[in-house]
Amino acid sequence: MSQKSSRRSFLAAGLVLPAAASASRSTQQSAPAAPPRPGQTSKPSGGPAFQYRTLGKTGLRVTSLGFGCMITSDGSVVERAADLGITYFDTARSYMGGNNERMVGAALKRKRKDVVLSTKTEGNSKQEALAQLDKSLQELATDYVDIWYLHGKTTIGAVTDDLVEALQAAKKAGKTRFAGVSTHGGQQDLMPWLAKNPNIDVILTSYNFTMPPFMDSVIAEAGKAGKGIVAMKVMAGGTRRGRAGDPGIEKLRREGALTSALKWVLRNPSLGTTVPSMTDMDQLDANLMQMSIPFGAADEKILAVHLREITPFYCRMCGECAGQCRQGLPVEDVLRFVTYADGYGQFSLGRERYLQLHPSHVSARCENCPGCTVQCPYGVQVAAQMARAQALFAC
Ligand code: SF4
Ligand code: SF4
Repeated sequence: MSQKSSRRSFLAAGLVLPAAASASRSTQQSAPAAPPRPGQTSKPSGGPAFQYRTLGKTGLRVTSLGFGCMITSDGSVVERAADLGITYFDTARSYMGGNNERMVGAALKRKRKDVVLSTKTEGNSKQEALAQLDKSLQELATDYVDIWYLHGKTTIGAVTDDLVEALQAAKKAGKTRFAGVSTHGGQQDLMPWLAKNPNIDVILTSYNFTMPPFMDSVIAEAGKAGKGIVAMKVMAGGTRRGRAGDPGIEKLRREGALTSALKWVLRNPSLGTTVPSMTDMDQLDANLMQMSIPFGAADEKILAVHLREITPFYCRMCGECAGQCRQGLPVEDVLRFVTYADGYGQFSLGRERYLQLHPSHVSARCENCPGCTVQCPYGVQVAAQMARAQALFAC
């Protein structure tokens, strides 16, 4: 079966669920807490029922619910998460215009030795990347990070020898314990290559219920090879704040579509941890509470509806439409920036990233196009979403 037809089958069949976590060789579940009563909004008594997993051959033990700090500006949420027992925290040099690391460092100061801390570099050369790492350590107020990632690589060619040398040099200098690569797309080719690369210890990949079945295979393969796997974009675009007033999204939000999406991801036994974004105490509590409630038929039903709701505008960042735009626009990137605004409620981040594009891409307008040449096999309304990005972000 071709990859395209396999993807269409996936869509036609609705959700494809990963193998149950009971097959895990690296998981150990804590004693389950009592399920919450209907309508209960705080975490169950006795505290969160964390699951602990091992991040591949690194041997790092982490809670399966980690914390993606990218859009968190309130350090007290990060601090409380660490106090409640979350042990994995992820940031990057570029988040929040360079200010996110400072907030994370301050929030985790008391707990630094008890948590696994990762950051990332977008440096394009060994020298630039290592200079960014020094800046990261300064901002995080720590001598080392546990994992240092090359940020946002989508092709094998982007993981250059020069950058791999930077990872090795950082390990040798004791500035990072482990080396990683993060990827938003291109996993079909990139992840098998990373799985075989002895210089890479951990892979941070986008992964959620909207993605095609090959993602389960490449994640399982990398896990078997001993790589630690961390999942991001687990809630498929968030929709926590974005598109307020959209009745479909509002309803799904109330019904718990986001936590169902999180639990769907956590069923995959090859994953070490996840890094959902959490910006306030309510989101932290909602995620913590779900740790004691297994994924069930109700979640499956909610996600099937959610998939239909988000299909016209949620880009899975599969990269399949690369090169199709007649004006050469980087569709996958632009649609990710729309997700920052609409899904995560982070308009500034989306606009900041958009304005970093090539000036000819920033000034391009889909309304001047005689017809969209981009075909999305997942049903994303590309021209409409691109026009939305231009209306939202362009000067
Ligand atoms: S628009 Fe569609 S084909 Fe293009 S990257 Fe997004 S999901 Fe893939
Ligand atoms: S409508 Fe927009 S995305 Fe589609 S081909 Fe034209 S410029 Fe590219």
